Amino acid sequence: MVMEVRTVAVIGAGTMGAGIAQVCAQSGWHTRIFDAFPNSLENGIERIKSFWEKGIEKGKTTEKEKDEWSQNLVPCYELSKALEGADLVIEAVPEIMKLKKEIFLKIEKIAPEYAILATNTSSLPISEIANITSCPERVIGMHFFNPVPIMKLLEIVKHDSCSKNTIEVAQSISKSMGKESILVNDVPGFATSRLGVVLGNEAIRMLADGVASASDIDTAMRLGYRHPMGPLELTDLVGLDVRRDILNNLAEAFDDEKYRPHPLLNRLVLEGSLGKKTGTGIYDWTSGEKKERDLKL
Ligand code: NAD
Repeated sequence: MVMEVRTVAVIGAGTMGAGIAQVCAQSGWHTRIFDAFPNSLENGIERIKSFWEKGIEKGKTTEKEKDEWSQNLVPCYELSKALEGADLVIEAVPEIMKLKKEIFLKIEKIAPEYAILATNTSSLPISEIANITSCPERVIGMHFFNPVPIMKLLEIVKHDSCSKNTIEVAQSISKSMGKESILVNDVPGFATSRLGVVLGNEAIRMLADGVASASDIDTAMRLGYRHPMGPLELTDLVGLDVRRDILNNLAEAFDDEKYRPHPLLNRLVLEGSLGKKTGTGIYDWTSGEKKERDLKL
């Protein structure tokens, strides 16, 4: 029988952590969310609450649901408090291998010995994270998509030491969350990020080369290829820093420079234009609407 999940700990309250915690709370699980920075934790909780408020305004959510979900959601200022009695831990800290390994070593020591330990990494090898722990069989990739409450896909990434039970629990969690899961082998970038970041990087190269404006490149893919959102707008949604890190990780993992982030992407990240989350990225979002920027290399 597949283990029943009652308590979930989400580590990192950024774009993804907050979204994952929101969906866990909505699934009826006791959900604890922790971030190393109290400000980020509070902002994450704020974003979840405002999502629920907007849901009420639009008639998609009731006050009663919001109250129930809010009770399920507990912000934690200490990692140990978040991990106490957790059946499932989902890590969503920045895409840096060293950081993820440090977190997993801490999680392993504090979380119950039956807990499933999942990482939301978009591109890093799961086996490398799993093998730093003494329980690789309980470690798995659970790759959610942004915005988590809306996107239906959950990419489950297994590795050589992953147990059958861990995979089955991850699949059952996905179902309970209302997601459709795919099961993928532990190859850098998995089935999604590898294609997604290459498309985004090439679109940035085309923008820098002056092929067309950002919105015309986006419209080309929306109307010509039926993508729901263009690759440049999607890069702004995901976060330019997140995409740059994934591209660098792929370049190193495959020992192939073709994956390196385009210089324009690197420059925008360095100047703090990280996309929607900072107000500017490929586009300018500061007015609340998408506006073209005059971007030069
Ligand atoms: P983010 O920068 O928005 O959030 C990361 C959070 O982690 C921040 O709030 C930060 O304060 C916190 N943090 C940093 N160090 C920490 C630590 N030691 N302990 C606890 N918290 C810590 O990043 P994100 O976009 O949410 O990405 C998180 C992970 O999810 C990455 O691995 C990324 O590749 C993956 N991912 C991102 C997307 C996306 O669209 N942004 C999609 C799928 C997967």
